Amino acid sequence: MINQNISVSYNKVTVKYLKSKWGSCSNKKNLNFHYMLSSLPVNIMNYIIVHELVHLIEFNHSERFWDLVKLYDPNYKEHTGLLKIYNDILCF
Ligand SMILES: [Zn+2]
Repeated sequence: MINQNISVSYNKVTVKYLKSKWGSCSNKKNLNFHYMLSSLPVNIMNYIIVHELVHLIEFNHSERFWDLVKLYDPNYKEHTGLLKIYNDILCF
C-alpha cells in the first residue's frame, strides 16, 4: 500500500523516452518519467514515482532518502527487487 500523502513542489513533469531509466529528477525540480512506465505493475510504478518525488526533498541516495521512501512505500525493498526482474525481462 502506498501512502499517497506526499507533499512536495515540482516544476514540470515530462513523459518521454529515457535511456536505461524509468524516471529522473533535475535540480530545477523537473521530473521525467519513461513513457513505458505505465506498462509496469502499478505497485512498481508507484515505487518509481515515490522514488523521484522523494528526490525533490533529498537529492541523493542517503539513509534519510531511503527512510523517506520507506515512509511512502513501506514495501520499497520488494519493489526494487521486482524492478530488477522487470528490467531484465525488458532488456532495459
Ligand atoms: Zn534515485
